[in-house]
Amino acid sequence: MLDRIEINRLEATPIEGVAEQLGMRVERHKALCPWHDDSRPSLTFDTRKNRYRCYVCGEHGGVIDLVMHRRGCGFREAVEWLGGSPLPNLPLQGKREGFANGTREHRTPYCVGEPKKGSYKVYPPDIEWLSTLVRPRVLNDEARRFLFEERKLDARVVAWCGLSSIAWPCPCWRYGKVFYDAPSLMIPYYDMEGRLVSVQSRYLGKEDKPRFKFPRGSNCHIYGLQILRYVKPGEDLWITEGCSDCWALLSAGKKAIAIPSATLLKDADIAPLRNLNLHMAPDQDKPGERLFLELRKCLPQLVRHQLPSGFKDVGAYYAKVRSKMLEVRS
Ligand SMILES: [Zn+2]
Repeated sequence: MLDRIEINRLEATPIEGVAEQLGMRVERHKALCPWHDDSRPSLTFDTRKNRYRCYVCGEHGGVIDLVMHRRGCGFREAVEWLGGSPLPNLPLQGKREGFANGTREHRTPYCVGEPKKGSYKVYPPDIEWLSTLVRPRVLNDEARRFLFEERKLDARVVAWCGLSSIAWPCPCWRYGKVFYDAPSLMIPYYDMEGRLVSVQSRYLGKEDKPRFKFPRGSNCHIYGLQILRYVKPGEDLWITEGCSDCWALLSAGKKAIAIPSATLLKDADIAPLRNLNLHMAPDQDKPGERLFLELRKCLPQLVRHQLPSGFKDVGAYYAKVRSKMLEVRS
């Protein structure tokens, strides 16, 4: 359990570094205040006391308060977030050192979400930064509602997939502009070796915003590749169209990946799937049918399964079956 000493240790994490990890831009010990509609930085960091205070709205606190507010989470999650690793990526180290001291030269000259006009070079996603967004498995209320109440997913699957959430919009590049909307589920994409390759957001709010967002330069066409390490030759692997259908099948004890589109697939993507027993229950709509037919062109062993009528996709079917099971049990 947490004791006072541990909490004091976390409260001593350099507050400006924590603020930057939370997507705030800190310059000359100041940042835009997230508590009021701030246009000119009025939140001030006292690095000696390791606390913040806004001289406009009066909000003040320490490291854990800041994490709780920015991530929209409770005390326990904030502590987990801070303790999730010894914060090895604090931006106040190495060649970016000048940034926190107020010099501007070190500002990253491009942002993946919004590239500079006239620049056509696409940079790979900022994995170091993205990993700080998904490192702590913080699930806020919206995420819990979506995953557990609506989709009835298994908590072990959610943890295994490394799902996380954000309560505040944040950039996809450390010093970039805001890119991910909030509240959003944060969905890490891994390669076959389990290395993070990108993070997709799934918007959970009520406003009219794009539902899914992927940082530019992301080069991943298959979701859930990390499971291939556990699929033995001759074993079944299911293919779904979207992530949440994939989580539904994983929750049902199947091994599954998601391939949202066949048009982007390259030979290298398909190669590891060639010798597996593949199954798919296409979404009950035209795009679902089209995806199945296109995938079968490159993966001829793909077996088609039919969803019972009235269910749009695997996820909806799973949620229904699961809630029936829960009804019987209670
Ligand atoms: Zn304020």
